Amino acid sequence: MTSLDWSTASTATQVRETLDSLRAQDLPTHGGRTLSYVYDSGLARADEIGREALAAFASTNGLDPTAFPSLAALESDLVALAAGLLHGPDSTVGVATSGGTESLILAVLAARDGAPHVQRPAVVAPSTVHAAVHKAGHLLGVDVITVPVDPVGFRADPEAMAAAITDDTVLVVASAPSYAHGVIDPVEQIAAIAAQRGIRCHVDACIGGWVLPFMAEVTPWTFAVEGVTSISVDLHKYAYTPKGVSLLLHRDPSLRRGHIFASAAWPGYTMLNTTLQSTKSGGPLAAAWAVVHAIGLDGYRELVAVAREATLRLAAAVDDMEGLTVVAAPDSTLLALQAGEGCDVFTIADEMRTRGWLVQPQMAFAGHPATLHLTLCAATAAKVPELVAALTESVARAREAGVVRVDPGLAAAAQQIDPETLDEAALDGLLAIAGLGGGDGSLQVPERMAEVNALLDAAPPALREALLAGVLDRLTR
Ligand SMILES: *Cc1c(COP(=O)(O)O)cnc(C)c1O
Repeated sequence: MTSLDWSTASTATQVRETLDSLRAQDLPTHGGRTLSYVYDSGLARADEIGREALAAFASTNGLDPTAFPSLAALESDLVALAAGLLHGPDSTVGVATSGGTESLILAVLAARDGAPHVQRPAVVAPSTVHAAVHKAGHLLGVDVITVPVDPVGFRADPEAMAAAITDDTVLVVASAPSYAHGVIDPVEQIAAIAAQRGIRCHVDACIGGWVLPFMAEVTPWTFAVEGVTSISVDLHKYAYTPKGVSLLLHRDPSLRRGHIFASAAWPGYTMLNTTLQSTKSGGPLAAAWAVVHAIGLDGYRELVAVAREATLRLAAAVDDMEGLTVVAAPDSTLLALQAGEGCDVFTIADEMRTRGWLVQPQMAFAGHPATLHLTLCAATAAKVPELVAALTESVARAREAGVVRVDPGLAAAAQQIDPETLDEAALDGLLAIAGLGGGDGSLQVPERMAEVNALLDAAPPALREALLAGVLDRLTR
């Protein structure tokens, strides 16, 4: 809730001051200490040009590219730059979307509608695939069949994926790299299997698509790999552009056809869209175009070199730390860290938070323990010594504190609960037990999250989903 009275017009100063005070409660978007959610190039000039373009194009409407030809031109230019970066053939086409999730939904939609003969379409993906693919399956009525990854390297297992493909499979997905572990799946093998079966292969490069092309000696994953039919890459991640832009590229126009939507089934204008949104601001697209050009190829090469070096430096420092290990050697600029005996990642995350650093807890999954996720940006590089010091202190404190104990009775009870049967009152009760609510529909998010996280970690994934959906619901009542 804000304090402004809506019955009369507020002054510009009142509006600004209120917004400023609200923003002051947020995580910092710049400065390199927030190691997920935000991406900071450290280039103030590029940020400024992006903000200018965002404002200048805020009210334009991407609904109709013939009415706003500037937006069609900007989109085509970005798609062409990306196609060049990702070795797309001349036939490559693409669209700008609102983000990685929308790009993945459209890739699944195009694959589903590209195989109309399949009764019960399915996607085959490694278990590490981004949750956005599960969302796509949920929305589109497409089954998502996940296949366990190699338990040591956390990369997709091509043979196991091949075995999971059936006549119903319309799409195979690989990540470059995976968000949770930062490793690149064996795209060449996976794409070859898909091509052999006549199935599309999407590479989710949402987080790596603007990093890997600037690194030396990366395992092949682009359109240079035969059989890769589409690639998603988020500009609002490592292209360091303001939020709201991802690109979905297809090897040729026929593959895109399934997500071009037209409707003349009403008395108004003929609706014609390539994306999920209809009316959409041209602001994020223009901002992305502006930043991508303000930084340029050489600029990105430099930013990637800096972020990559910082990632390796941090990984080496963690290797020397008692109580913390790197889960998999990073293929890109992402790290997953695991706590050792007697030490808890959730406590480390809290300790980091009190020191002004955000590291993201990732819950235990498929028999693997919980980890911490770190996305390293160029702006973090200069602060690696500070980051290492903060991690060292945090790990020491976490080792002193020991592993967060979850009441065994509570953990056992959590295994018995069927999330499908939870009504609102039961959900309130559980949230109160978890330390997240007053039991009456109210919500309280504690300063230190270790206890809550440990409890959520002990809950089966379906219960965790129900509890966190309940949290979001209560947060926005
Ligand atoms: C971020 C990400 C997504 C989802 O992107 P949003 O922009 O958050 O919708 C999908 N896949 C991967 C690998 C990602 O890192």
